[in-house]
Amino acid sequence: MHSSYNSTQSMPKDDDLLCIICGTQKLIQTSWTDRNLGRRFISCPKNGCDEFAWLDPPMCRRSVRIIPGLLKKVNRLEMEAARAKAGEKKMKMYLVASWVVLAAVVFENKLLNV
Ligand SMILES: [Zn+2]
Repeated sequence: MHSSYNSTQSMPKDDDLLCIICGTQKLIQTSWTDRNLGRRFISCPKNGCDEFAWLDPPMCRRSVRIIPGLLKKVNRLEMEAARAKAGEKKMKMYLVASWVVLAAVVFENKLLNV
């Protein structure tokens, strides 16, 4: 059964949340496939039950083509940013360590000169 909810109604009513086939509480989930990226659907979690309906309208063809690429680009940039941040933290630790060593050397020289 493939019914859809009116787009102005964001969430289904309580009685719409029970599966009409088996009576189990249905789940609202989000699709992450390239074809239906971010599109919400409601389905029955019971194995073998095929109660399913989209909550959001389908994406236009141009969005289906463009959005997965953009999402991959965002993920790649987020990974690069995380890697750069880790490198920055390491460099800060090296900087602090070098200052500690330098201070120790200077302090030791002062003790020897006095
Ligand atoms: Zn069911």
